[in-house]
Amino acid sequence: MATDRIQSYLEGRWQDGTGEGSPLVDPTTEAVVATASTDGIDFAAALGHARKDGNAALAALTFAERGALLQRMSTALHDRREDLIASAILNGGCTRSDAKFDVDGAILVFSHYAELGKELGDTKLLVDGDGIQLGRSPRFWGQHVFVPRNGVAILINAFNFPAWGFAEKAACAILGGMPVITKPATATAHTAWLATRAIVEGADVPAGVFGFIGGGVGDLLDHVTGQDILAFTGSASTGAMLRSNPKIVEKSVRVNVEADSLNAAVLGPDLDLSSEGFNLFVREVTREMTQKTGQKCTAVRRIFLPEANADEVIEALGERLTGLAIGDPSSEDTRMGPLASARQLADVQKGVALLREESDVVVGDPDAPVEGPNGKGYFFAPVLLKARDPQTARHVHAHEVFGPVATVVTYSGEPEDAIELVRRGEGGLVTSVYSDDKKFTEAMVLGLAPYHGRVYIGSSKVRDHALGSGLVLPQCVHGGPGRAGGGEELGGLRGVQHYMHRVAIQGSRPMVEKICDTKPAS
Ligand code: NAP
Repeated sequence: MATDRIQSYLEGRWQDGTGEGSPLVDPTTEAVVATASTDGIDFAAALGHARKDGNAALAALTFAERGALLQRMSTALHDRREDLIASAILNGGCTRSDAKFDVDGAILVFSHYAELGKELGDTKLLVDGDGIQLGRSPRFWGQHVFVPRNGVAILINAFNFPAWGFAEKAACAILGGMPVITKPATATAHTAWLATRAIVEGADVPAGVFGFIGGGVGDLLDHVTGQDILAFTGSASTGAMLRSNPKIVEKSVRVNVEADSLNAAVLGPDLDLSSEGFNLFVREVTREMTQKTGQKCTAVRRIFLPEANADEVIEALGERLTGLAIGDPSSEDTRMGPLASARQLADVQKGVALLREESDVVVGDPDAPVEGPNGKGYFFAPVLLKARDPQTARHVHAHEVFGPVATVVTYSGEPEDAIELVRRGEGGLVTSVYSDDKKFTEAMVLGLAPYHGRVYIGSSKVRDHALGSGLVLPQCVHGGPGRAGGGEELGGLRGVQHYMHRVAIQGSRPMVEKICDTKPAS
C-alpha cells in the first residue's frame, strides 16, 4: 500500500521536511500508513509570517466576520467528514463511533464559536464590565477591554483527539483575533493533516491565519515573543518541560496546559442496585472507561464505591466490561479498537503492573494478549482493579494509565471520607458524583469543586438526559488545577478571552467611551 507523506502548512504553502521522517502506523495491523518530517523547515520564518500577515488579516475582521470564517472552517471539515472518519479509523484505531466523536466534535466546536462570533457582532473589542469613575467627578473614566494580541497561538496537542484537539483551541484563538499554528502528536497526525487540507482548500482562510506542523516543532519555541500564546495538551511531564522552556520564561509567554487527570466517579451509598441512578452509574462508568479505548483525558480512572456493596457493584461493572466486542475498528460489530500506538500499549502494560503492586485485578486479564485481525495490533482488553488497602494505596491517585483501565477504591459511605480520597488525585478535569441524596451530593460537590474543572452530578432524575462526564462541551470550561495542568479552555466566551489581552483604558470619559464603543445611546 502506498504511504502518504504528511507535509506542514506554513507561510501559506505546503512544506516538506528532509529525510525519511517518522512513521505513522495503523494500530490495527501495524502497517506504516504515512511518514512525516519537519527537518530543515524554517520555523522562525513561519512564526514571522503568521505574526505579520495573519495578525493583520484578523485585525481587519470584526467578531462577526471571524465567526463567518470559523463557519467556513466547520463546513470545510463537514464536506470531508467521511475521509476524516476513515483516517481516524486507519491511523487512530478508532471505531466509527469513536472517530465520529473526534471529527464531529471538531465540526461542532467551530460552528459553536462561529455562532458566538455572530452574537458578538460588528465590533473588534470585547468590553469587560462597566466603565468606572476614577476621579472625584465622572470626567476621568476607566474601562477594561479585551483586545487581540499581536502574536501567534501555538497549539500543541495530544495523540488522542487529532481533529477536535486542534479545533477547540483554534476556534477560540481565531475568534479572539490570533492566527494559529497547530501541531498534533506525530503518531496520529494523519487526521489533523487531512483536516488542514480540508480547511486550506475549502475555507478561504486569509494568509497566515492557519498553520500546521506535521512532525516535531524543531526550534520553533526559541522564536516566541511575549505576544504569543502556547496552548498545550499532553502528558504532565511534557507540559512541565514546555512551561519551563527558557524562552517561554524569559518572554513571559502565556501558557495553558491540559495534562494528566485521575478522574473519579463516586457512587453514593443511597443508590441501591435496582435504582435508576445506579443503572446510570454503571452505563456511564463503563462507557467512560472504554470509549476511545480509554484514551480520553476525561476517562474515569478511579471508582469510589461504598464498602458495604462494593463486590456487587464490581460484578455489575464486570458484566458490561467483559461482554465488549474488541477487534478491527472498521468492523461494525466492534465496540472497542486497539490502543493508538506501540508506545501506548507499552505504557498501559507498565501502568497496570504499577497499579498491581497495591491492587488486585477484579475484572479482565491484563496478561492475556488480545490479537487483531491479522494476528497483530496494539490491543488491550478492559481491566478493573481494586485497591487492597484504600488508606495506603498511592499509585492509584498518582499514575494515570491512559487506556481502558480503572481502579476501585472503597470508602465508608461518608462524604468526608470520599472527598479526602478523591482529593489525593491532586487536581483533575472532572469528577462525577452519582447519588439521589441531596445532602450527600451537596457535600461532595462543594468538597471536590476546588480540585476540578468540572463536577458532574448523575442522579435518577437525569437518567435519560445526562450526557456523560466525559463529554467536553464548548459551553462549559475544560481544564483542571494541579495535576491536570492548571489550564482552562472553552466555556463559551471565557475560552476566547484566554487568547486576548485585557487592558484598562483611562482618560476623559467621552474619549474612553468613544474608543471602547461604550457610549450609551442618547
Ligand atoms: P505527550 O507525549 O506529552 O505529547 C503531547 C504533544 O507534545 C505531542 O504533540 C508531542 O509531539 C508534543 N511534544 C513532545 N515533546 C515535545 C517537545 N520537546 N517540544 C514540543 N512539543 C513536544 O502526550 P501524548 O502521549 O500525545 O498524550 C497523552 C497524554 O496527554 C496523557 O498523559 C493524557 O493525560 C494527556 N491528555 C490530556 C488532555 C487534557 O485535556 N487534559 C487531553 C488529552 C490527553 P510528538 O508526538 O511529535 O512527540
